[in-house]
Amino acid sequence: MASAQIDYAEFYRRSIDDRDAFWGEQARLIDWHTPPARICDYDQPPFARWFAGGTTNLCHNAVDRHVAQRGEQAALIAISTETGSEKTYSYAELQREVQRMAAVLQSLGVGQGDRVLIYMPMIAEAAFAMLACARIGAIHSVVFGGFASSSLASRIQDAAPKVIVSADAGSRGGKVVAYKPLLDEAIALSPHQPGAVLLVDRGLAEAPMTAGRDHDWAALRAQHLDARVPCTWVDATHPSYILYTSGTTGKPKGVQRDTGGYAVALAASMRHIFQASAGDTYFCTSDIGWVVGHSYIIYGPLLAGMATVMYEGLPIRPDAGIWWSIVEKYRVTHMFSAPTAVRVLKKHDPEYLRKYDISSLRALWLAGEPLDEPTATWISDALRIPIIDNYWQTETGWPILTLCNGVQPQLSRFGSPGKAVYGYDVKLIDEASGAELTGPNQKGVLAIEGPLPPGCLQTVWGDDERFVNTYWKSIPGRLIYSTFDWGIRDADGYYFILGRTDDVINVAGHRLGTREIEECIAGHVAIAEVAVVGIADTLKGQVALAFAVPRDAGAVVEDAARLRLEGEVMKQVDAQLGAVARPARVLFVSVLPKTRSGKVLRRALQAVAERRDPGDLTTMEDPAALQQIKELVG
Ligand code: ATP
Ligand code: MG
Repeated sequence: MASAQIDYAEFYRRSIDDRDAFWGEQARLIDWHTPPARICDYDQPPFARWFAGGTTNLCHNAVDRHVAQRGEQAALIAISTETGSEKTYSYAELQREVQRMAAVLQSLGVGQGDRVLIYMPMIAEAAFAMLACARIGAIHSVVFGGFASSSLASRIQDAAPKVIVSADAGSRGGKVVAYKPLLDEAIALSPHQPGAVLLVDRGLAEAPMTAGRDHDWAALRAQHLDARVPCTWVDATHPSYILYTSGTTGKPKGVQRDTGGYAVALAASMRHIFQASAGDTYFCTSDIGWVVGHSYIIYGPLLAGMATVMYEGLPIRPDAGIWWSIVEKYRVTHMFSAPTAVRVLKKHDPEYLRKYDISSLRALWLAGEPLDEPTATWISDALRIPIIDNYWQTETGWPILTLCNGVQPQLSRFGSPGKAVYGYDVKLIDEASGAELTGPNQKGVLAIEGPLPPGCLQTVWGDDERFVNTYWKSIPGRLIYSTFDWGIRDADGYYFILGRTDDVINVAGHRLGTREIEECIAGHVAIAEVAVVGIADTLKGQVALAFAVPRDAGAVVEDAARLRLEGEVMKQVDAQLGAVARPARVLFVSVLPKTRSGKVLRRALQAVAERRDPGDLTTMEDPAALQQIKELVG
C-alpha cells in the first residue's frame, strides 16, 4: 500500500533543519536490539556516526523479523535463463538457507569483523552468503563475478578476506565463464591468502579443488541442515560491507558502509522514494556486484518485506520480452534498471515489451548514467508507465536526486533526475572560488554539505586519509563532499546533471559539459550511442571529439557516407548548441569502451585520443573497443 501524498518541500526541510528528529523517526522503520544513544554524532567531521550506541542486525531486519508475519510469503525469486532454473524461496526458507550458510562460514573460522569476499554469479547462494555475513557480523566484499584475475587479486589484497565464496562458473548469453581458474590465479597473484574457499558447484565447469583450502558448499551444507545461528547484534556503526566504485574515472575506491544507518536509509527509501510495502515485488536488473544490486536486489526489498527477483541472464535472451514475461508471471510492482540496458532493448522491436500483461508494474526507475531523452521517450512509449530517473553513487548507497513521494513526475523535466532527496543537503558550488551558487540555472559542482545522511560511505576501507582528501577537500576553502559531477538547478529545484567534473571541456574560454553535446548528437536519427571527450588543442585550449556508434553500421562503410553523416552531426550541434560546441571530428565506431557496469570510459577515450596511457582499465568490459579507437586516432 502506498503511503499518502505528503508535502515534500516540508518533508525535505525537516530532514535538513531538524535532522535528528527526522532520522529518529525513520529509525523506527527497523528493529533495534538496543535503541541508539544518539541519532547523529558529527563531532569529528567529515566522519558521521549514525545511530551510535544502538545495536541491530541487517539480516535480522531483512529476514528474521518477517518470518513470524509472512514466513510463507515469497522473499527471493531466483531466475536463470542461462541454466533454465527458477526457484522461489519464502521468508522461512530464506532464513533456513541463510543459517546454513552462516554455520558453514563459522565452521571455516569466520567471526564478527572478519571479511568474506563473494565472487559469484547471480544465483541464490550469493544472496545467502551476503545475508549470512550480515547475520554473524562479518563484512562482505562482493566482487562482480567474472572480473579478471588481476582485478580480483587487488580486491583480495585490499579486503584481506578470511574466506572467499565462489562458484564453478557463471554464464552469459549461453557462454559459460569458468570462475574457479580466475579465482585460483587471483589468489596466486595476491600476497594475502584466504584461509578457505567455499565453492558452489553448479555443474557448469571443471573446478579443480585445492585440498585443505577449498570446500564444497553442498557437502558442508548437508552437515548443517538444521543449523540455528542467532543474529549477532552489532553496533550501528559496525561495517556491513566493502564495495568498489565502478572505476570510470580512475582506480576504484573501496567504499565502507555501516550497518544501522544503511538499514534505516534503505527502509526509508523503500517507503518515501519507491512507495513500496511488504508483499510488493521488486525486480532490479542490476548485478549484486554493484551498489544498485546491494541496495535494491538484496537489502532494500527484503528490509521492506517484499519479494525480490534475482535474475541471471541477458535482457534479450531468449528474446527481448524476457524481463516483461517475468513481470507478468510474478506480478512485479517495482522495477529498477539502467539506461544502458534500455538502450540494448531499444535495438529490438518494442512489440516485445507489449506482449505481456505488465499491469502490476507501477513504475520503472533508471540510474547509473545520464538518461538521454531518446532513450527515456522510447521506453516510456513502450511501457506506458512512469519512468523515473534517479541519480546517486556507490558512495551514497541510495538516491541523492530523484522524485520522492509528493513530487509528481514532471514530463516536461525530461533530462532531470529530480529534486534533492530528503537527508541530502545538496549544493551547487563554483569550482574555482568555492562559493555556493544559489541562483537558478547556474552551473556548478554538485556537492553535499556534511554530515552525509545515513547509509552513505563511512570512509574508504582502510584509508581514512583518502576518504577525506578525495571527497572533502576538492573545493577550496571548505569541507564539503564533492560528487565530482557537474550540474545546474532550475528555479523549481529540479537538478540536471551535465557530466562529470573531469568531463567539462573548455573551448576557447567556454565551459561545456560533454553531456550537453552528447545529448544533442544522440538526438540524430542515425546515431545509436555517442561519447564526447575534450582533447588538448594548441589554439583553443580544448576541442570536443565525438565517438559515435551508428544505428546501422552499413551506413558508414563508404568514406563519402561517413563524411556526410559527420557533417550532418556537426550541423546539428551548430544549430542546437552553437559552433563552439561543434566536435572537431566525429569518429564512427562499432562499440564504445565501457565499464562492466555499462558506463562509458571517457577518460580512457580521452587518453587514447591524446596519445596518453589510459590508466587503470581493470573494470573495462571489452578491450577490443579501445583497440578500435587507437587505430582510428592513429
Ligand atoms: P569511479 O567513481 O570509480 O570513477 P563511477 O563514478 O562510475 O566510478 P559509480 O558509483 O558506479 O562509479 O557511479 C556513480 C556516477 O554515475 C555518478 O557520480 C554519476 O557520474 C553517474 N550517474 C549515476 N546515476 C546517474 C544519473 N541518473 N544521471 C546522470 N549520471 C548518473
Ligand atoms: Mg564516482
